[in-house]
Amino acid sequence: MASTTGNCLCEAVRYEMYGKPINSAVCHCNSCQQFSGSAFMANCWYKEEDFKVVRGQECIRTYNEEGTTTGGTMKRSFCKTCGSSLFQQTAGLQRAKIISVTSGTMNNRSLCQPGLEVWCSNRRDWVSLNHNGEKLDRQ
Ligand SMILES: [Zn+2]
Ligand SMILES: [Zn+2]
Repeated sequence: MASTTGNCLCEAVRYEMYGKPINSAVCHCNSCQQFSGSAFMANCWYKEEDFKVVRGQECIRTYNEEGTTTGGTMKRSFCKTCGSSLFQQTAGLQRAKIISVTSGTMNNRSLCQPGLEVWCSNRRDWVSLNHNGEKLDRQ
């Protein structure tokens, strides 16, 4: 049985996750701000084998962001109908077979307590997050 589910705003895309997330990460980089359209991203990491799209695979589009600061291609997936940011993978996460799911599309957001906060050097002045995870200036 899935431990939680997720869906985009229009509900065309639905997914399921099994077990506990490996980690949760907040990122303040410019690309994550642009992709999310917000001040930062807060994502939950699952093993690829613990994540399954159960509806609307045909509605998912993936943007390959080239030339990221950490090198390699960042794959960023979203719903073609409503534009919700769904999940993404850095080159490193692709190698580790880990998928980073946007916590705003998850139905159990309590699973997403940050264990890692990156690009704090680019954090907006008014953002202050209360967690005990690791904080890095870059990534
Ligand atoms: Zn949608
Ligand atoms: Zn980022």
